[in-house]
Amino acid sequence: MTAHEYDVVVVGAGTSGCYSAATIAREGYDVAVVERKTEEEAGHIACGDALKGADSFPEAIPEKRLEPAMTNTDVDHGRFEIPSHDTVIEIPVPGKLAVIDRWEYGRAVIQGAKDAGAEFHYDTVVQDVVQNDGGQVTGIRGTQKGDLVTFDADVVIDAAGSLSLLQDKTDFSNATFDTNVRYSQFCSAYREIVEVEEEVPWKDALVFKPTKRAAGYLWYFPRTGTRINAGLGFQMNEQPMEMVEDLKYDLRNRPEFKNAKVVDKLGAALPTRRPYDSATADGFMAVGDAAGHVNPTTGGGIAGAAYAGKYAGEQAILAIEAGDVSEEALWPYNMKVMDHFGARYAGLDVYNILSTAVDVDNLMGLLAALPGEKLAEALYSGSASIGWKLKVQTAIKSYGYWNVIYNLYQTKQLADDLIDHYQVYPDSPDRLDTWQTKRDRIMDDIYATTGAEAKY
Ligand SMILES: Cc1cc2nc3c(=O)[nH]c(=O)nc-3n(C[C@H](O)[C@H](O)[C@H](O)COP(=O)(O)OP(=O)(O)OC[C@H]3O[C@@H](n4cnc5c(N)ncnc54)[C@H](O)[C@@H]3O)c2cc1C
Repeated sequence: MTAHEYDVVVVGAGTSGCYSAATIAREGYDVAVVERKTEEEAGHIACGDALKGADSFPEAIPEKRLEPAMTNTDVDHGRFEIPSHDTVIEIPVPGKLAVIDRWEYGRAVIQGAKDAGAEFHYDTVVQDVVQNDGGQVTGIRGTQKGDLVTFDADVVIDAAGSLSLLQDKTDFSNATFDTNVRYSQFCSAYREIVEVEEEVPWKDALVFKPTKRAAGYLWYFPRTGTRINAGLGFQMNEQPMEMVEDLKYDLRNRPEFKNAKVVDKLGAALPTRRPYDSATADGFMAVGDAAGHVNPTTGGGIAGAAYAGKYAGEQAILAIEAGDVSEEALWPYNMKVMDHFGARYAGLDVYNILSTAVDVDNLMGLLAALPGEKLAEALYSGSASIGWKLKVQTAIKSYGYWNVIYNLYQTKQLADDLIDHYQVYPDSPDRLDTWQTKRDRIMDDIYATTGAEAKY
């Protein structure tokens, strides 16, 4: 058996793990990143490859390191294809957007964390956490190429992605850590990298389309004009889809993909839920997908993972310096997440809940009738303002969908109430309970208004 000792051990060499490790290492602390994949395979992650807001990523990994991976920076809008209504709507996407070579990006964030001083241990599958008698997490256990290996640390950061095994192994009975996590709050997704002979006509767009045979959606994101990330996903409270078959079906029916070659295939689950109410316990924090830090309407999780990594890294340093790694000491990490993006994502989750209860055809018809730029505002901020002239035009076009609109209107009021409540997220773990009780009352109203089944 091999035993290691570090100030912090981070499990997972994805975006959240690398940003956590880089933040900590560059302040001179000893940090290990433990990754189950080989050194060569590390950074190869199932993704749609759309990166939003990379111009304002945390500085622990310099932006110039990521630039070579941004293979298409011409993308500036979403293209929503709605075959049932024979409509295509184009929606501008605010902020800097790029489609990336995801593996190259994965290697770049690993190199960024290494440059900052983090040590990487590949081929190491974490199988358990170590907790002391008081329940404080003091390290992890795993195997490295068949040998037992342990890592002792003041703080363990769980950056192991969706449905992290570490959380199954940790006894959270003394902590507020969110354990209300179920498969139905996740999306199952699959993607192929496809090469085509001629440049696609939508090289400057992210293409979305509802799937034909089940309640899911397809995407086509151009890494370059001829190299496309083609994928699809469905919320796991729906009937499972034959994802490989359904993707093939659509690809075969699109002339752009004639003679296309598949060069890579990967699938994974991603959280399409609100962020964890608390992602802290004594000696332990979860970041990125392992804590639900994904925009639940777009599935975009790279930016949330990077920022959660930064905030967890900063809090780990403060806690170690103060000689107190208790949940109370790590708590400001939760507050920073909620303040930056958690409240907004919780608000957007309301529309995800609504979408499970409304008729997809109706929703598509309504989308087809709405003005694109206002939809963009709603999609990214969770809210939109709309002038009277546009309201009248929209009302005429959307005649027939007014019941859906009314439902949306009521849902939006509740989503706004929810966001307001997240603005007063508690400043210590002992006030979480009272805050959750009020939040759950708003959620009950949301289920009653949307007619959706309770998600949490
Ligand atoms: C199909 C798909 C499409 C997506 N499209 C987009 C998109 O277009 N844009 C976007 O912004 N986001 C997208 N996302 C979400 C995005 O990929 C994630 O939110 C992001 O990668 C999360 O980063 P992370 O570091 O938290 O986790 P991950 O990137 O999943 O990294 C987790 C790491 O932990 C390692 N690990 C797991 N368990 C163990 C263990 N027991 N021991 C050791 N190591 C372990 C894994 O090997 C992995 O390297 C998509 C996700 C999927 C599945």
